[in-house]
Amino acid sequence: MLVIFEPMRFNEIPGQDAIRARLLQAVKTNRVSHALMLSGTSGSGNFALALALAQYLQCTSPVDDDSCGVCPACHQSAQFVHPDIHFVFPVARTAKIKDEPSSDDFITEWRQYLSAGAYPSLEGWYHAMNIENKQAGIFKKEAQDILRKLNFKSYQSDYKVIIFWMPEKMNTTAANKLLKIIEEPADHTVFLFVTCGTDEILPTILSRTQLIKVPKINSEALYQKLLMEYPDQEKLLRGIVQRSQGDYLLAQQMIDQSDQNLLNRDRFFRWMRISFGLQIPEITQWVSEISDIGRERQKWFLQYSLGMIRNNYLLNRGMAELAVMDDEEAAFSSRFNQFIHSGNIEGLMSEFDLAIAQIAMNANPKILLTDMSLQLNRLLRIPAVAAKG
Ligand SMILES: [Zn+2]
Repeated sequence: MLVIFEPMRFNEIPGQDAIRARLLQAVKTNRVSHALMLSGTSGSGNFALALALAQYLQCTSPVDDDSCGVCPACHQSAQFVHPDIHFVFPVARTAKIKDEPSSDDFITEWRQYLSAGAYPSLEGWYHAMNIENKQAGIFKKEAQDILRKLNFKSYQSDYKVIIFWMPEKMNTTAANKLLKIIEEPADHTVFLFVTCGTDEILPTILSRTQLIKVPKINSEALYQKLLMEYPDQEKLLRGIVQRSQGDYLLAQQMIDQSDQNLLNRDRFFRWMRISFGLQIPEITQWVSEISDIGRERQKWFLQYSLGMIRNNYLLNRGMAELAVMDDEEAAFSSRFNQFIHSGNIEGLMSEFDLAIAQIAMNANPKILLTDMSLQLNRLLRIPAVAAKG
């Protein structure tokens, strides 16, 4: 996959003008705090602000209020490979890494993950590391790595920057090793801590930082940013901006989800037809497509399908007013509902409940969906009892 890295300039960040002005002012007057704590939701832009500041500090030809975005330093920053910008983030043991892990062990996955956007979330990162069922942390080895890295002279620039994501995940041993360097780092060494909430951060760390609370993004700035990224979704955006509470990440997830809803509708229609007809090549093709959409979306899809099965049962029982559907769903269901009745509804619902639970427990989607297609064929072909009720 070709990944195109966009340098992270302050200009790309929706809203947060006051914080941006404050950070720039600090750099210009040479008063950058040696330890900043940017606290806000994952979608507030707290991490993006840290990236933009790091890039600005390293940029060799900054413009008035931003990094230039084109110098070699900016390009290195954008690819997360600038030798004087270090990243610290929670990690976990895996099959591959059996000793105490540190960020360096996962730097490739981290760069890949960030290339999708400067709004990391713990959930997204766990998924990228493929450790969904484990807890990640920041351990003693990490602290040793940081001390070692800060021992070297900076490579290219005046500043050494450590972007320290999720300090609330750091254990006490690691924290104790870092207290002194956070309190009194060498000149031009800057710790940029990025946190989702200060409650869980060790007080010894928190008290050594300057706290900046990153508020939710104002509605107009968020709307303009989303409109640029999703110009064909204009109708949806106002409502999404309102419901997302100034959280860019949440807004993106909502847009993705509404896209998925339309896709799910077509996936469902197709699945019911080919399962009913036991069209094996089509089933194989369909299963292989759905296997590729990822576990989270498979779960949404199965939940959507379960909802449609319920709706069709309501129609079949003459309770159309309880079935909430759009026009296309209603058109499909007007004929489909004859196949969902008292003779098979329990079997169908328990198949779907089981599948949703198994997907969540990392079952193989290919095997699971193939088996389900066969079960659907069997269940949909159970004849309705002549007299309803
Ligand atoms: Zn530059």
